[in-house]
Amino acid sequence: MGPLPSEKPIGHGNRGTMESLDTRPWSPRAGDRIGIDLDNTLADHDHLFVEVAREWGLLPSHSGPLAKSQLRPLIRHRPQGEERWIALQGEVYGRRMTSARLMPGAASFLDRCRRQGLAPWIISHKTHYAVLASEPLDLREAAMAWMAQQGFFADPGFAIPRERVLFADDRRQKLELIARVGCACFIDDLEELLIDPVFPTKVRRFLLHPAPTPLPVGPFQACRHWQEIEHALFHTSRPPSS
Ligand SMILES: [Mg+2]
Repeated sequence: MGPLPSEKPIGHGNRGTMESLDTRPWSPRAGDRIGIDLDNTLADHDHLFVEVAREWGLLPSHSGPLAKSQLRPLIRHRPQGEERWIALQGEVYGRRMTSARLMPGAASFLDRCRRQGLAPWIISHKTHYAVLASEPLDLREAAMAWMAQQGFFADPGFAIPRERVLFADDRRQKLELIARVGCACFIDDLEELLIDPVFPTKVRRFLLHPAPTPLPVGPFQACRHWQEIEHALFHTSRPPSS
């Protein structure tokens, strides 16, 4: 992990000390740090999980599209399911990372951040190496290569300095990084992270929940897709209701 800026006070936003969700209208200001998770928030791997599961005979070849959250219980309930699930993740986040897609709407959001002078920080919980890979797979290197391939660091492109990508070994460290970077808000697909008791209370939380299940309710704003997050932050035209 590279050097971090000193803790940045948040000049506006939720000044309260209570855990409750601040629902007052809010928009980030130029210079604000916008924290964003990587896997399943910016990078879409759902099609790869299904593809590899079929190749490995863990799913019937005719099975239709499934979200990662729907596939996980199907694999885990099989014999040696936990090991297979871990191996599957290693394959998807390692060798197949180059085939991940940028989540629909994320490019528009990152473009807008750039135009408005906001600073996206990508903070990802990602182990360094795949645990059960036959050869060591550097998952962080694969993620950096994918972001480069998608134009994250290029100009023209999203022009995000590479130093603004931080990897955490576990959830606790990820939460520490979100606090230390001084994110004005954080966008993640994992509800468990956003409701963690040590999640920094001053950071506004956005949950990306594309799965076709009811939108969770909690100390965050839940959105179906990136267009809705863009609307919530920048008050752009309202996306079609979901
Ligand atoms: Mg994620």
